[in-house]
Amino acid sequence: MHATDTLREADRLMTVCNACRYCEGLCAVFPAMEMRRTFNDGDLNYLANLCHHCGACFYDCQYSPPHEFDVNVPETLAKLRNDSYAAYAWPGFLAGAVARNGLIVTLLTAASVAAFIIGFVGFADSAALFSAQAGDFYNVMPHGAMVALFGLVALYAILAFVFSLRAFWRDINGDNPSTGVAALGQAVRDTFTLRYLGGGGGGCTSEDEQPSSQRRLYHHFTFYGFLLCFAATAVATLYHYAFDWRAPYALYSLPVLLGIAGGIGLLIGPAGLFALARRRDPILVDDAGTGMDTAFIAMLFLTSLTGFALMILRDTAAMGLLLALHLGVVFGLFLSLPYGKFVHGLYRLLALIKYAAERRRQTFVD
Ligand code: SF4
Ligand code: SF4
Repeated sequence: MHATDTLREADRLMTVCNACRYCEGLCAVFPAMEMRRTFNDGDLNYLANLCHHCGACFYDCQYSPPHEFDVNVPETLAKLRNDSYAAYAWPGFLAGAVARNGLIVTLLTAASVAAFIIGFVGFADSAALFSAQAGDFYNVMPHGAMVALFGLVALYAILAFVFSLRAFWRDINGDNPSTGVAALGQAVRDTFTLRYLGGGGGGCTSEDEQPSSQRRLYHHFTFYGFLLCFAATAVATLYHYAFDWRAPYALYSLPVLLGIAGGIGLLIGPAGLFALARRRDPILVDDAGTGMDTAFIAMLFLTSLTGFALMILRDTAAMGLLLALHLGVVFGLFLSLPYGKFVHGLYRLLALIKYAAERRRQTFVD
């Protein structure tokens, strides 16, 4: 009936949990599960993407290993989530390659783009690359070339997101795609507060089996750091095109202040998540997915680190090389976004929208 062993195992676990129902207060997964008697592939992918991998249901479970029922919901749903990133990815053949070699592929992309920019600018005007430019990035790489390069990769990433999210939404919804504005509002609130990283109250459970809010905190730093950096880029674009105010911007200007705040978030959040992942109980973790997880948080951290180095040294002769390095890292990050950990946030948002709509329908029927 199911296409993979992981889907079959998830079906077995959800059937056991549906009979037990001890964990129904921990997160959205169990109430969503209770609305079903059987589970098709779309249902299981929906439940997997509702799970925030807090670990609480493993430590609370009387049937977890070494019990013969061998119930390990966090590990199985983590495997299913990682499979779902590849299953819905567009184009599919690229997803498999990136999932297997996440960090290597992303770093190679970044290094090759940085080398390309260094070669390009060095060939055209080596003096511009190796001399102080008073912070004028466009002396090193023309604004048009920068927009063309990053516009293309951003367009590609958006296309990949649209196709993969549409496939996921169709699969989890079947013939019943209606949601409503109220459900959308609830899902957005739950996403922005990372509500279900609470693990039923105490937070995520780590290797000492004690709940802690650290994982939720570092997720917040990463999430809002990313949004602030995005806002900094959007404001700078507005300055350039709407007001003809060209970079470099002063330290106290809005784009730079947003970038500094976001950059701090992207240093603290990914570093904290990396440290916590090293301490996570291995029995909860899907080893096959750690490469892409590490690639994503490493690329976020490096984006921020190279951005700060560029900002601090922008008036020196090191600016040209640092700009090439920073742009290379950002290019690699953009290229990897549709195939790695970043998509889990978007799939989770869609899963939460469906969950909020189901809850509202259930309340209405009751
Ligand atoms: S994880 Fe264990 S305790 Fe929780 S609902 Fe499933 S079987 Fe019951
Ligand atoms: S790991 Fe946490 S979020 Fe996932 S199913 Fe268990 S309790 Fe829910």
